[in-house]
Amino acid sequence: MAVIGIDLGTTNSLAAYWKDKEVKLICDGNGQALVPSVVGFVPGEGFLVGEEARERLLTFPSDTAASFKCFMGTAREYVLGDKAYTPMELSAMVLKQLKQNAEFILKEEIEEAVITVPAYFNDRQRSDTRKAAQIAGLKVERFINEPSAAALAYRMAFGEEDKTLLVFDFGGGTLDLSYVECFDNVIEIIAVAGDNHLGGDDIDREICGYFCKENGLKGEELGLKDLARVRKLAERSKIALKEGEQISMELEIEGRLCRAMLNEEVLFEICMPLFEKIKKLFLRILEDADSRVSRIDDLIMVGGSSRLCVVKRFLTELLGKEPVVLGDTDKVVAFGAGAYAGIRQRGEDIRDMLLTDVCPFTLGIGVANRTNREKNILCPMIERNSTLPASVRERFVTVGDYQKQIAVKIYQGEEYYVDDNVFLGEISIEVARKMAGEAWIEVQFTYDINGILHVAVVNEMGERKQVLLANQTLSEEELARYEKEMEHLMLPPIRQPENQAMLEKLLAFYKDSTGQRRQQIGMTMDRVIEGLQSGRKKAVRDARKWGRLLLEELESEKDMWEDVLFDGELKWEEEDQDE
Ligand code: ADP
Ligand code: MG
Repeated sequence: MAVIGIDLGTTNSLAAYWKDKEVKLICDGNGQALVPSVVGFVPGEGFLVGEEARERLLTFPSDTAASFKCFMGTAREYVLGDKAYTPMELSAMVLKQLKQNAEFILKEEIEEAVITVPAYFNDRQRSDTRKAAQIAGLKVERFINEPSAAALAYRMAFGEEDKTLLVFDFGGGTLDLSYVECFDNVIEIIAVAGDNHLGGDDIDREICGYFCKENGLKGEELGLKDLARVRKLAERSKIALKEGEQISMELEIEGRLCRAMLNEEVLFEICMPLFEKIKKLFLRILEDADSRVSRIDDLIMVGGSSRLCVVKRFLTELLGKEPVVLGDTDKVVAFGAGAYAGIRQRGEDIRDMLLTDVCPFTLGIGVANRTNREKNILCPMIERNSTLPASVRERFVTVGDYQKQIAVKIYQGEEYYVDDNVFLGEISIEVARKMAGEAWIEVQFTYDINGILHVAVVNEMGERKQVLLANQTLSEEELARYEKEMEHLMLPPIRQPENQAMLEKLLAFYKDSTGQRRQQIGMTMDRVIEGLQSGRKKAVRDARKWGRLLLEELESEKDMWEDVLFDGELKWEEEDQDE
């Protein structure tokens, strides 16, 4: 049974599958692979999904829903006809359409899919995506992060050498940057940065503004209909603009013919405010990844807006070299999802690229605020961009005299006040009856590579309580086994027995050596320790390799030296006997 790969996008969605050793895209009757993520309702007829619905965005805005992925995981409702629908239900309709298209082409029933989601999607958003698939009759075989899918597509094209990549995904409403390291069969996301309000729509808006200004029109004075017409003209002109060409934008508004000229130079100028924002994000991700431009082997351009020639020009200037374009940039993620569906069908695996390799948001608990008792503040436990798995334990004390219990409230987000962050769950535990600041509890946060957050609280009396914040529910028995596995997982590389043994051997050689040799061993040991402590999978692997290589060298030198000594002794004895 076939498994399909799905890119469930904010603006467009598409599906792909693996056949005859290559990825193929699923196209509709018109040969179109992109299905606009738009749902429309036609009274008396029913629902429309895709291009037909998108066309009605302008004419029937109140019966059409778009960009609902931005609100995935929330209870926001879209009213179509006389019923309200959640982003999850609307996504289910898009998924169902993709499933039907795939079944029509593959001539078989499709029940499983690999679905891509943004790396920063939280538990709730992933869980709602899973439910949407369920409603559409699809079991989610696996979630893959969109940048991991793009990196996989890159590896299919350029081979599996070690590479550091920056995935630049510029879509309809969002820009996502991801710093990715690829080695062996690992694709690791080191850091993510992005803007949920920066995409092709903003370029359209800027072009609109330019068109209005050129014609002395005031955007706010235009009627809704005319504004929509200008927006459409802006998008069409943007897409039609080829490198080195120019386009004459023309539209009749209130009986007057309005005109403006668009070429690469003008568009570059129009996009400047957006480019400034992109540059800031670019610097932020380099900082978060503790890296620099020269360490990026390739920047991969992904998303429909990456097709713009001015975007490529801007990135080339920023990077100092040409970015990589893998065919149509808006199909790269689906391509990667299709490739992964193939990998799953063959029973192979790619490690560590699934779900969240890096914690995309800060996780913490609410603590009392000294200056304002009413508003608790967030005390971060696991910081944004921590490499997973991550585990942190901290002690907290009571704020009230003879306080009976502490309610540990768990949040995710970057805001100062807890109320501005996302509430995830709560654990209440009794505390010893003491004066304020004297009774304590210990809170442990553990976040594993499957995006499951485990929070445990222990009080002074040794009583322990825990919650698991995940998509699935586990039985007590499974929970116990899970905890045990986590214990091993949580041993940082520097404390894992095999690495400890390696370091001890190196240290022994260090003590036995002198001069330059000793210095060399010392320097390698520093590098090994630094790598093991870095928390990055590639750095850990490299550190192990360096350590092992030096050990092998030292051990074979020692063997040789012993041979020489041994031979020498024998000879001496022989000579002795000769005498
Ligand atoms: P998402 O990932 O957000 O679902 P896409 O990656 O499909 O979306 O990108 C959609 C955006 O790409 C839209 O804003 C659209 O106007 C823009 N776009 C599509 N084709 C082109 C093109 N040839 N040139 C410039 N922009 C394009
Ligand atoms: Mg996309």
